Amino acid sequence: MEQDQLFERLWCGAAPMEEWTQAVSNTAITAVAENIVTIHSTYFCGSVTAIRTSAGLLLVDTANAALAGQTLAAIRRWDDSPVHTIIYTHGHVDHTGGIKVIDEEADARGLARPRIIAHRDVPRRMERYKMTQGFNSVVQGQQFNYPNYTYPVGQRQPDQVYDDTLSLMIGGERLELFHGRGETDDATFVWLPERGVLVSGDFVIWMFPNVGNPRKVQRYAAEWAESLRRMQTLKPEVLIPGHGPVIFGAARAGQVLDDGATLLESLVGQTLALMNRGCTLDEVLRSVSAPAELLAKPYLLPEYDDPEFVVRAIWHLYGGWFDGNPAHLKPAHAAELAAELAALAGGADRLAMRAAALAEGGQTRLAAHLAEFAAGAAPDDKRVQATRAQVLEHCMEQETSLMGRAFLAVYQRDAKARAAG
Ligand SMILES: [Zn+2]
Repeated sequence: MEQDQLFERLWCGAAPMEEWTQAVSNTAITAVAENIVTIHSTYFCGSVTAIRTSAGLLLVDTANAALAGQTLAAIRRWDDSPVHTIIYTHGHVDHTGGIKVIDEEADARGLARPRIIAHRDVPRRMERYKMTQGFNSVVQGQQFNYPNYTYPVGQRQPDQVYDDTLSLMIGGERLELFHGRGETDDATFVWLPERGVLVSGDFVIWMFPNVGNPRKVQRYAAEWAESLRRMQTLKPEVLIPGHGPVIFGAARAGQVLDDGATLLESLVGQTLALMNRGCTLDEVLRSVSAPAELLAKPYLLPEYDDPEFVVRAIWHLYGGWFDGNPAHLKPAHAAELAAELAALAGGADRLAMRAAALAEGGQTRLAAHLAEFAAGAAPDDKRVQATRAQVLEHCMEQETSLMGRAFLAVYQRDAKARAAG
């Protein structure tokens, strides 16, 4: 009952997602339908859906390594039968990292380890994570401010993969798996046709779609929208998102899918129209705007990713990395450019002072450029670095997305350390 009331407050925007994370932090179970539950632990860890069948349990996703233990314990309070099959909705570690805990439980009970099914590109993703583990450790550490973070690799790979769709009958339960690209290239959503239950994976995350993340591999806005449209045609009665609470009722489920698709289609359509006219990236970024009424929906708030980042991702997908500014094709070394500009301005401190004034006046974008030029020209000047830290602080205050703030904070900490050092 309490969970229902909280849902209504989330749905109308009266409660922030932090309140939901707080409410489910000791793990919460949502009774989805007869023999189906979803387990939540925090907004930032993928939810796990368990389906009881005559062959054993089916799980969609595993939670992350840290929360898998309490998630599995919650499942065990509900049903103690062996885990028969696990479906990975995609290869992100907050959805696959719990496999070790689940396997260890099977080993301890002398049971066969569950079969894992996923899209064909999940193993390739897992191999890529091994190849780029250092980079991912840096990026993930920056994004969530985890010092000395090591990105976890080596999750058990799928036993069975599929390409576009896969129909399964397991212990009397019929499942349809659909592949689509969106946040990742390896995503699956799961449809239980006889129940009207849709498990969307991260195609629905109670947040503006995470499709523009500045330091992640290419993501797919147009295909994300296509997947949401495909889900709409299924007319789900219950929509289980990858993150956030379960959405009950065909009208609400349909609205969430429609609004998400419309928002992405708008960004893709506007960006492509400008690209097709030969605009530069600068012109595109200046002209595209996300429909305000959709951005204001409680399940589409741009608090994690940001529409501007998404426009860049769309540009990059269709147009590569060159932004249409000839100086950026083979740019000068950043320190040389900074020194040249500082000399023209009459010194790095002049640039820094102007940066501070612009930041105070709210022009944080311009201010950030000048502050970085100043620091590039005089990296060991403590006053310049202190001003740079202040400017970045203003930038962070104006930044609405968690990722934007996190990346700005990396350089703000650097500036502070240099100012003190
Ligand atoms: Zn996720």
